[in-house]
This record gives sequence, structure tokens and C-alpha cells, in this order.
Amino acid sequence: MPKVAILKSSGEYRELVPRLLELADAHGIVRDGESVLIKPNLHAPQHYTTGGTVNPALVGALIDWARAQGAAEVLVADSPYHSHPNPEEVFTATGMAEVVEARGAKWTVLRRHPYRTFHDTSAHLPADLRISEAVFSHDRIINVAVAKTHLDAMVTLGMKNLKGCISDRDKRVLHQDFDISRAVLALSRLIHPDLTIVDGTLGMEGIGPAMGTVAHLGAIFAGRDIRAVDAVAAQAMGCGIDDVLKLKRARAEGLLEVESIETVGEPLEGVTRRFERPYEAMARQLPDVKLEIATACSACKLNLIRALCEEVAAGVSVPDRCIAAGKGRVKDPDALLVGTCTRDDSGRPYLPGCPPRIEGIKQFLSGYS
Ligand code: SF4
Repeated sequence: MPKVAILKSSGEYRELVPRLLELADAHGIVRDGESVLIKPNLHAPQHYTTGGTVNPALVGALIDWARAQGAAEVLVADSPYHSHPNPEEVFTATGMAEVVEARGAKWTVLRRHPYRTFHDTSAHLPADLRISEAVFSHDRIINVAVAKTHLDAMVTLGMKNLKGCISDRDKRVLHQDFDISRAVLALSRLIHPDLTIVDGTLGMEGIGPAMGTVAHLGAIFAGRDIRAVDAVAAQAMGCGIDDVLKLKRARAEGLLEVESIETVGEPLEGVTRRFERPYEAMARQLPDVKLEIATACSACKLNLIRALCEEVAAGVSVPDRCIAAGKGRVKDPDALLVGTCTRDDSGRPYLPGCPPRIEGIKQFLSGYS
């Protein structure tokens, strides 16, 4: 029976983490002399107060906990989104590097390490998937995510956080050619964290995983079963299992038995707060914008939506005609075409790029506003 610990959290992690992990039966996971890899979600150089990345203080408390359990070596490791030009910045700009170094521990960018290639593991993953060797060269993995909504996957929790362990090429391919929810579920069959923590002290709602608004859930979740932790955290965010494809598929494939999950600590009902869904936030923030983006991968979607939100927030007018991105034929005969996939011989205005950059999108749209 998978157990998931729930505690209310105001961000005082030093005392909270040992209590949380005791409740989660984590004692004994790390043994004397073992090496531990902590994988926080640092997808971009966003400060934790945005709800976009893991609070360094939580990782600091986990380093202390792992050492108190007997860990001889602790490495904090992640890799940001695939086209980020300076991946070390996610450690320095977020304050993570400072917290890790102050404890004499080490941090690293996973893309700087060699990869181990997995061949033909799943129809939902690239045929030759490359996962950072660092993930397999440590005795224990502690997976640390933030409770966030996600434009494509509804929520981004423990399973989605594993995507930071794969190569940049594979991240790009996943977003372009695969269903991200099915892909991260398949990935969770290849990478096995010993402990998963989802922090909702500050989460993100609306247009996550990067452009949403802070959601004060005020709770933190931990357990040894990654899918059970995700299921409980998603429910605390007001999502049913069927609302989240990766959880729905996990249940269908026999990887998640929601009814058998034992929650300990705070009752789930006491920490539940409905997060605004990405498409609800888009309707609110961009009420007059007509989009045809269902087949676009998240890189195109996020850049386009970000460009539009920033222009609207700045009082800049945006086109009142349809804006399209993604694969397949664009239906609207008057649409503005954004991204290389939309190129055709219709003569409609077209912006190349895969994905086009935010500033380029703004400039393109300004010609038709
Ligand atoms: S143009 Fe956009 S939708 Fe097409 S592959 Fe590139 S990022 Fe994806």
C-alpha cells in the first residue's frame, strides 16, 4: 500500500523535512556511506517565489536530512529547458548554487554528463532515448518537484520532473513528436526515484509551467511511490485522476491504484485548493484572441502565449484575426501562421522558427494589429 505524507507548510523546511520524511517512512532509504542525487525542478532561471522552481531552502534541508541518514556524498543535479543557452544559470540565478555550496555539497548540470542510451523501450519515447549517466551512478535519487499547472500536461509534478534527466535532443523530440503525458509515464518506468517530494508551499496556477501565477497551496507531499505522490498532489490541486492523462494512463496500465494509497499527516481535504487551469487563465487573460494551436508543441504554444500575454499586459493591441501554430493544415483561411510547421502555399502571413522567439512573434503580430 503506497503511503503519501501530507503536511501544511509555510516554508520552514528545516523542521518540516525530517517530520515529513518520517511520516513518509523514508527512514532507512539512505544508508551509511551511500551517494544521493537530489533532482529539483529548475526548468528555468526563475526565482522560487514565482512558484516556478524548487525553493533552495527545501533542497538545503534535504541535503541535511540525507547526511543525517549517513549519506557520504550528495549531488544536486538538473538541466533546464532544452534551448537554454546558459544552463548553469538555473543554479546561480535561483540561489540553488549558494545553498548547496554553503553545505559543502556539489551541484551539476545534467547535460554536462555522458548519457546512457535506452533502445526501443516504449512507443511513447524516442527509439534511442538518452538519459544522463549521473542518474544511474548514485545509490539513491530524491526527486523534488513543485505543484504547478502545465499547458500540455495539466499538471507538472514528480513524473514530469524526470524529463530534466534526458538529453536536450530528446526533450525537443518529446515535445514535437510525442504525447508528453504518455512519455513521462513511460520515463517513470526507466528512472526510479527512491523518494518523491512535491512542494506546494508556493505552487503555480494558470499558464504553467513558467508563465502562471503563484498559488499558495501551503502544503507539501512526500512518498516512495512517485505515481501515488503525483496522484495525491494533483487531487490537492483540484484535479481528478481522469483530468490528468498521465495518471489516468498509469491507472489503466496497473501502475497506480488510487484506492490503495494511504495518506498520513494532514487530511487531503484540509489542504485542497483548486488551481486555475491553463485554458481558463488564457480565456481570462486573452479574451478576444482567437487561436488555432491544438497541434502545436509546447515550445510554440508557450512562446506565442507569452508574447500575447506580455503585449496585452503592456496595453499593446494584438491582432483580431486567428493566430495559428502547430502541425497539420491550418483551417482558418485568414489566419496568421506562426512557426515552421504552419508553412504552406496559401499566401497567408507566415513567421518561420522552430519555435519562433518571443520577440520575433511580437514583431510579426504588430504588423497585423
Ligand atoms: S514549429 Fe512549433 S509546433 Fe512545429 S515542431 Fe517547431 S516548435 Fe513544434
